[in-house]
Amino acid sequence: MEATEKDILRGGQFLVKETNCEDVFTLEDLSEEQKMMRESTKEFVDRELWAHWERFEKKDYAYTEETMRKAGELGLLSVAVPESYGGMGMGFVSTMLVCDYISGATGSFSTAFGAHTGIGTMPITLYGTEAQKQKYVPKLASGEWFGAYCLTEPGAGSDANSGKTKAVLSEDGKYYSITGQKMWISNAGFCSLFIVFARIEDDKNITGFIVENDPSNGISLGDEEKKLGIHSSSTRQVFFNETKVPVENMLSDRGNGFKIAMNALNVGRIKLAAACLDAQRRVIGEAAKYANERIQFKTPIVNFGAIKSKLATMATNCYADESAAYRAAKNIEDRIAMREAAGNTHQEAELKGVEEYAIECSILKVAVSEDVQSTADEGIQIFGGMGFSADTPMESAWRDARISRIYEGTNEINRMLAVGMLVKKAMKGHVDLLGPATKVGEELMGIPSFETPDFSELFAEEKDLLKRLKKVFLMVAGSAVQKYGPELENHQQLMLAASDILIEIYMAESAILRTEKNAKRSGEATQATQIAMSKLYLYNATETIIQKGKEAIVSFAEGDEQRMMLMGLKRFTKYTNNPNVVALRTQIADKVAADNGYTFD
Ligand SMILES: Cc1cc2nc3c(=O)[nH]c(=O)nc-3n(C[C@H](O)[C@H](O)[C@H](O)COP(=O)(O)OP(=O)(O)OC[C@H]3O[C@@H](n4cnc5c(N)ncnc54)[C@H](O)[C@@H]3O)c2cc1C
Repeated sequence: MEATEKDILRGGQFLVKETNCEDVFTLEDLSEEQKMMRESTKEFVDRELWAHWERFEKKDYAYTEETMRKAGELGLLSVAVPESYGGMGMGFVSTMLVCDYISGATGSFSTAFGAHTGIGTMPITLYGTEAQKQKYVPKLASGEWFGAYCLTEPGAGSDANSGKTKAVLSEDGKYYSITGQKMWISNAGFCSLFIVFARIEDDKNITGFIVENDPSNGISLGDEEKKLGIHSSSTRQVFFNETKVPVENMLSDRGNGFKIAMNALNVGRIKLAAACLDAQRRVIGEAAKYANERIQFKTPIVNFGAIKSKLATMATNCYADESAAYRAAKNIEDRIAMREAAGNTHQEAELKGVEEYAIECSILKVAVSEDVQSTADEGIQIFGGMGFSADTPMESAWRDARISRIYEGTNEINRMLAVGMLVKKAMKGHVDLLGPATKVGEELMGIPSFETPDFSELFAEEKDLLKRLKKVFLMVAGSAVQKYGPELENHQQLMLAASDILIEIYMAESAILRTEKNAKRSGEATQATQIAMSKLYLYNATETIIQKGKEAIVSFAEGDEQRMMLMGLKRFTKYTNNPNVVALRTQIADKVAADNGYTFD
């Protein structure tokens, strides 16, 4: 049955509407076809990438290009491309799946893959004219051509609309002449096509262009950047010197470039989150194997509580990340289908579908990129001195993970975007924050209930707590909006604290809903570790929310208001039965150790 508008939560609505576990998509819901695709992606990765990770570390750019071509031959570059342009036209979840499992071996390949299939191809599939799509997309889908995306400039990074690259229309009106300097361009060294953003005259907004890579047309490259990680991902400056681009290669309309850039980044962000998942699984697997084998004090180090605590936290974060990433991916897929059913073209539907969940895309980008980093960091620690050695894969995993917090919009920018977009949606009436925030305010003035609720059912207490954590966000953000109005965006530290609360709520809820769904259909006994991970994640999330909530409240509220909000914070974050955190961690770590890795996907 087609999903209808009523069935699917709008972006950001998770905060004010309850979601039934049956309504979330989980990795356990993959179709047979999707599972097969996952297997063939994993086989490709093990054979072509993981077996050669040293080549990626030795800056073997040619090997990245070679493996990208092989990925093209296997159709892995074309999953998101509609069939009419030579692709497989698979749904959003399937495209996430490939992004996820193709990224576990090395950040060099996953960056090349992401830059090509995402920001290098998507602007054309999403905004291109029919002629542009027919001309370029089949070549990009097959891997005959590779794409790169030129937005960043030396003076225009996070402030992406401030670029100085110019596009000047020729006197005969037939072409634009592009001049400017682009920086940090992934795939620059081997791409055939650039998506370039440039300004026409003194336009407020930049314009997008499709530019074929032809050195005889004023295009030259800087040297390969010397980078901390992703050593075999080609990253170079690109110089355009009066590069002639036919007018028909303008993407969308004049001045629409900033919008294109931002929408391409929305897709890029959720796909980047996916690309940080299998990297975590791989690190957990290697760490578990090492911890089982490494003997100190006459015992495998995995038996030490200190190591168990790390393995448990790594697995728990990965589980929550997977849960949230696939939940959002299916929301996007359903919304695209809904819009197509309502008469939108696939192109319009995809654009609007992803835009709707831009908040979730930012949340995921931040949360998963930070988890892959902390997981790799603890991976090094589990390996001890060997973790610091470039001969083990922990060191490169740590260096490769670092970039994910910077590109596709830094995590600071994405944190602020998530809250900023939510407030805008509330103002437009798309998400009713004001009603629930007012209710929370009234609740704060009222007398709390002293009834002891019945928490006997699975997750009854956790779901009750989640509802209250949402109230923390509404209380903090609601009061901050009331106090500062549109000026709130200038109070960045408050925005960041609110964002952390928002992020933790989404991640914790996603893990719980996934486990609840699976426990209902296959029995609680099959989900013992997943239940433990969901509970542990929520506990950790609550601790973060207490800290961030307090930080915000003591910084913008005073006197009685502050006292009342701090009391609210206490009430909304209280457990009736505190979980035994050490027991949960031990249970999770024992399973990871017994399975020699992460086996919950
Ligand atoms: C390896 C690599 C590959 C890349 N690939 C590409 C690519 O293919 N195409 C492309 O176009 N770009 C690419 N980039 C560029 C990347 O997207 C930018 O580096 C990123 O957007 C940040 O811009 P910046 O480096 O200029 O940092 P800045 O914008 O100068 O930011 C510096 C710091 O200030 C913070 N900051 C900036 N503005 C604000 C603000 N308003 N409020 C609060 N904090 C702020 C940032 O969060 C950051 O911590 C790549 C970068 C790297 C390193």
